Amino acid sequence: MTVGIVGAGQLGRMLALAGYPLGLDFLCLDPAADAPAGRVAPLLHGAFTDTRLLARLARQCAVITFDWENVSVAALATGQDRAAEKRLFERLEIPTTRWHAVGSRRELARALATIGVPGVLKTRRLGYDGKGQAVIRTAADAERAWAELGHVPLLYEEWVPFECEVSIIGARSTHGEIAVYPLCGNVHGAGVLRLTRAPYGPPPWQRRATHYLERVLSHFRYSGILTIEFFVRRGRLIANEMAPRVHNSGHWTIEGATTSQFENHLRAILGLPLGSTRARGFSAMVNLIGEQPPRARLLAIPGLHLHDYGKRPRPGRKMGHCTVVEPSAAARDARARALLKDLRVGVRIP
Ligand code: AMP
Repeated sequence: MTVGIVGAGQLGRMLALAGYPLGLDFLCLDPAADAPAGRVAPLLHGAFTDTRLLARLARQCAVITFDWENVSVAALATGQDRAAEKRLFERLEIPTTRWHAVGSRRELARALATIGVPGVLKTRRLGYDGKGQAVIRTAADAERAWAELGHVPLLYEEWVPFECEVSIIGARSTHGEIAVYPLCGNVHGAGVLRLTRAPYGPPPWQRRATHYLERVLSHFRYSGILTIEFFVRRGRLIANEMAPRVHNSGHWTIEGATTSQFENHLRAILGLPLGSTRARGFSAMVNLIGEQPPRARLLAIPGLHLHDYGKRPRPGRKMGHCTVVEPSAAARDARARALLKDLRVGVRIP
């Protein structure tokens, strides 16, 4: 059975690597001839909007999935539009930031007046990893942000002085079975994920995040993996955004959970029984950004699992990640600190 993947980035690559032991084959579509999944699966080279190639993908595959959400498909509409996402959270009574849609200079002024500063101006579409965002504290910031982003539909939201960020990842199968992973604690630098630790946080956070995720999964009668990211402020979970796909904060599940998010995504979309989401210990996942440290140096670190996406280095680009799994949260946190120091990642971890 062949699974089609629209997009052949690192997520597609890890999906394929998870699917081969289950006896699955893969066929990807991507505009980049050197896309990471193209090294492990056959690749149709062309635009995501190329109807001839999409038809070929549909013909050759039993099921089609996506490796990122910035693909023009109606079913992904909510995940593609931050305003639709906010409305969904409000409708499902999932706490989210106060926000205002901004389509003109006048609306920006109104948004600033109602929500106040500081706040964040974000593009409604095609944003990821902190791209298409500007923090506004002053009138000059607002001018600059408008000049930079004002040519597309925007959204202004309050700045949340969060204590930490968490994400919840879960799968819903075509039969409606749901399995949810332990909560992930995430640290970003310059809008890009640097570190994930899981399991993370007290049981009430896990329970609440799980309820919220189940609401979204059921609302869409969704199949596959879906992720919601939250800010935590005074013990409250405030939804930031959702991603209708496997997620960077779930990469630790490859070694750190009984069944990885990639395998469970495949099981879910194929209507197979979902695998256990139990943690095998306490995991820390660190992203390798911009350039890949020498392989030998990383592999000299005891117990470290390396995932090199095979990409050409570029500043800010996700080149790979590494994961360690420890028997206690304290041991895991100590190793996470040491790893960040070793890799010269200058982020503070809560
Ligand atoms: P996003 O693309 O919306 O996930 O934003 C990337 C990162 O920027 C988040 O994970 C936060 O660290 C930070 N950020 C975005 N929006 C806000 C906000 N309203 N308040 C505080 N931090 C934010």
